Amino acid sequence: MNKPNTICRVCKKEYFCCSDRKSLNSWKAMACSPECFKEYMKRIHAARKPAAEQTILNTKESSPVEKPKTIKKKPAEEAGKLSRNAKP
Ligand SMILES: [Zn+2]
Repeated sequence: MNKPNTICRVCKKEYFCCSDRKSLNSWKAMACSPECFKEYMKRIHAARKPAAEQTILNTKESSPVEKPKTIKKKPAEEAGKLSRNAKP
């Protein structure tokens, strides 16, 4: 049996991966099994996604909080201007 020389990036299991496969950039260079490789790809996508989703979530979260403030401010300011303009 071949000695394990690679650690699965998903389940951390040690497994053997020949240098041929590594040079071919086969999934075997990253994961011990196709299942683990699928998981590995998911994690890569997940690692990229949260950053993009967070910015979307942040803008979504911050805008509803900021909007009521600007809505509250403007009518008050406009009402003040209107009442001032209306008086003279
Ligand atoms: Zn694995």
